[in-house]
Amino acid sequence: MEEEKTGTEDKKDSFDKVCFMCRRSESKAGPMITLPGGITVCRDCMQRSFDSMDNPEIRNMLNLQNLSNLKNFPDMGMFRMDGRGASSSAEKAEKKKEKKPEKAPVFDIRALPAPHRIKAELDQYVVGQDRAKKIISVAVYNHYKRVKTNTNSLDEIEIEKSNMLMIGPTGCGKTYLVKTLSKLLDVPLAIADATSLTEAGYIGDDIESVLSKLLAVAGNDVEKAETGIVFIDEIDKIAKKQNTNQRDVSGESVQQGLLKLLEGSEVEVPVGATSKNAMVPMTTMNTKNILFICGGAFPGLEDIIKERLTKSSSMGFESELKDRFDDDPDLLTKATLEDLRRYGMIPEFIGRLPMMFALRKLDRAMLVRILKEPKNAILKQYQKLLALDEVKLEFEDSALEAIADLALGKDTGARALRSIIEEFMLDIMYEIPKDDNIGQVLITGDYIAHRGGPVITMRGTELPALTEGSAGREH
Ligand code: ADP
Repeated sequence: MEEEKTGTEDKKDSFDKVCFMCRRSESKAGPMITLPGGITVCRDCMQRSFDSMDNPEIRNMLNLQNLSNLKNFPDMGMFRMDGRGASSSAEKAEKKKEKKPEKAPVFDIRALPAPHRIKAELDQYVVGQDRAKKIISVAVYNHYKRVKTNTNSLDEIEIEKSNMLMIGPTGCGKTYLVKTLSKLLDVPLAIADATSLTEAGYIGDDIESVLSKLLAVAGNDVEKAETGIVFIDEIDKIAKKQNTNQRDVSGESVQQGLLKLLEGSEVEVPVGATSKNAMVPMTTMNTKNILFICGGAFPGLEDIIKERLTKSSSMGFESELKDRFDDDPDLLTKATLEDLRRYGMIPEFIGRLPMMFALRKLDRAMLVRILKEPKNAILKQYQKLLALDEVKLEFEDSALEAIADLALGKDTGARALRSIIEEFMLDIMYEIPKDDNIGQVLITGDYIAHRGGPVITMRGTELPALTEGSAGREH
């Protein structure tokens, strides 16, 4: 039996292996390396393949960032040029670890990054809104300091929670600021819409659903969720309804319901659902270390502020003063607790959001900056896309200003920018790949104003000057 087996193996080995790539036999090219699927390759060809993959140009062409991305050679690490064959399983495990680089968070909240460092990071993404970024950085720093030191016992001075209320028009960066912050700190973030919340038992989401969302984002890890951030948007929509005899199930009662969450308490939370019922499993969450940030546009609040300011400072020149406040871009920053109470927010609710601040409406210059400056600015994204086709994309300043003007007309802040630019870039992204000779595209103000086309420059030709009416324009 034993003899028979050895005999078969000898027979198999007696065939001369041939290199799959250069077709030389083993006797000419030396010992072969066997790849999965029984393919044999000589060492010379294997070395050549590795060399070519190390060449950045070829890697770019194949769109390979590193060799481990090679799908067709999943076990590339197995082969050694010294012919030792497969590596040990420990080595493989190490390779696996290397292969999946953990995207390290910018900050470690346990190390408490100082407010100026948090703001500096926010600056890279969020344009303007300096005061808001400063306040939010300090509030977050204090919040996590409080979480870390865990000041709860009665003999200590208890540090108040730094829950926040952000007031600002739509599209000015409220949600974006919070999202960026949670990413930088690597804490779970749940974004809820106050309009969907109703008092328990009515149609809509229970108030605890905001915590269920947070729990889901944290992968059902209660401990992780308990130090997360909850952002409740459209908070102005739960203002107390004025002059109504009906039960206010989605206004004042929701504010009342949120009180216990905001101040910190143990709450029974449905897991994986937005309302409690007999079928849904429940868990208990403590909200004392959850940072609550509420945001809203508060339309009409400016009039309340104006009225108060006019009343308090007027001695008979009311209309003149009112006009003065009309032009004040920072009017919302002057909002007081009394203004918000008049708006319909109950005092206990506002009282639990001690950090109150306003974001400015974005003006033309800020919109232009948003287009080009942030780390992941829309223009940079398009430039990168075209750079992959080796086409340089440039924008005239007048084009950016024209895009900003169109966005201003829509009155949805920076939110309109992407859709506007996408509309103009559609034709470019469709036409450019047709012609390999195109080396540069210049988006002009005229193109945005529908008065002309972009300036297309062929490879190897002189770059045109960045002026209106430059030569080489194709309509
Ligand atoms: P809202 O204030 O209504 O919550 P968002 O924060 O959702 O508005 O803003 C919409 C989009 O506009 C964001 O995703 C972001 O891309 C962009 N944006 C808004 N404001 C800014 C800003 N100040 N800096 C950079 N991008 C911004």
